[in-house]
Amino acid sequence: MQQPQPEVLDRFLRYVQVDTQSQEGSESFPSTPGQFDLLWLLEGEMRAMGIQDVELDEHGYLFGTLPENIPDWDGVVIGLLAHVDTSPDVNGKDVKPVIHPAYAGGDLELPSGLRIEAAQNPKLALYLGSDIITSDGTTLLGADDKAGVAEILAALSYLLAHPEIPHGRIRIGFTPDEEIGEGTRFFDVARFGAQVAYTMDGGTIGEVEAENFNAASATVTFKGVNVHPGYAKDKMVNAIRLAAKLLTRLEHDPAPETTEAREGYLHPQALSGDVEKATVRFLLRDFEWEGIERRAERLREVAREVAPDASEVEVKESYRNMRERFAQDPRIVGFAVEAVRMAGVEPRQNPIRGGTDGARLSFMGLPCPNLFAGGELFHSKQEWIPLLALEKAVETLVHLVGLWARAEKLPG
Ligand SMILES: [Zn+2]
Repeated sequence: MQQPQPEVLDRFLRYVQVDTQSQEGSESFPSTPGQFDLLWLLEGEMRAMGIQDVELDEHGYLFGTLPENIPDWDGVVIGLLAHVDTSPDVNGKDVKPVIHPAYAGGDLELPSGLRIEAAQNPKLALYLGSDIITSDGTTLLGADDKAGVAEILAALSYLLAHPEIPHGRIRIGFTPDEEIGEGTRFFDVARFGAQVAYTMDGGTIGEVEAENFNAASATVTFKGVNVHPGYAKDKMVNAIRLAAKLLTRLEHDPAPETTEAREGYLHPQALSGDVEKATVRFLLRDFEWEGIERRAERLREVAREVAPDASEVEVKESYRNMRERFAQDPRIVGFAVEAVRMAGVEPRQNPIRGGTDGARLSFMGLPCPNLFAGGELFHSKQEWIPLLALEKAVETLVHLVGLWARAEKLPG
């Protein structure tokens, strides 16, 4: 493939300079006006490139189409997605990207004096010889997820310049407010009109993420009996003590701080109460749904032991592992893995210890694995991304589109 690099870097450097931080608790949607600044910029660029059906709605969803170039094509419409907002956790205003040329090992020093230490960042070693992009150390960089935006548009621009490469219909979508968990709130799957999609929102080069946690929350409530402490003998039941007992008995259950990779956990996330009433809120996580049920049952059991008549456990499903949505057709993940290989990169398939917009979309009817965008240390002033990963993501997308070009329709 002729190299589509210069464009992806140039796009990335421009997009990160637009402040698009999202904001929790905002009344508006998208949550901040800055997101529209980038969406308008992208809208204009998409039109200028020749992308069709460019449409930006009032909620900040920007869609467009690259029509098929195969005569009588009747295949699978694929979607490519990235989010325009950056994390509310770290300042995203006045981002000044810095290019560290040809990484040769060792620490990276940012203009602010902040360092990215090689010892703490073993992944730097994957990118020897590549330029590495950081902020100046006073803001986040915003590779999450402007790398994804730049990669998708660079890939489409490449396809537009190379009409000899056959492809089916491609829909692209740029979405707001992913970082505050609202990215799919007004996403209209029917209007988007793809049968399978990919979010470009992963990290390390080669990642194909097709699995995420199953998630539920549980609230355990203890009812106490409050009596004046002076006359409390044999009468008072202190709900605070009941909650403490519960937590002590769960002390050795798998927790976020003691697990990794494919292990699930039971996580006491919030605790509140007084003598009369105490509640503990738990997060339950497991890659198997059966594991969520097992952990919920364990909670009920221990709560009963602690206070047979004064405890109540309420469990609510939060989200599910998207893996089950890909079982219908092995190509959804298989083509992504193959495209990564075709770009000369070793695929990495790690389960995500969290949820993604793609997971939510998968349950809204649009199967949607997550692919690497290339960034590292998201949501921090040390966020960095190698140029190599930006380039390989573009190549991966071009191969992915090619693999789907003449593929037969999905079942159902
Ligand atoms: Zn992201």
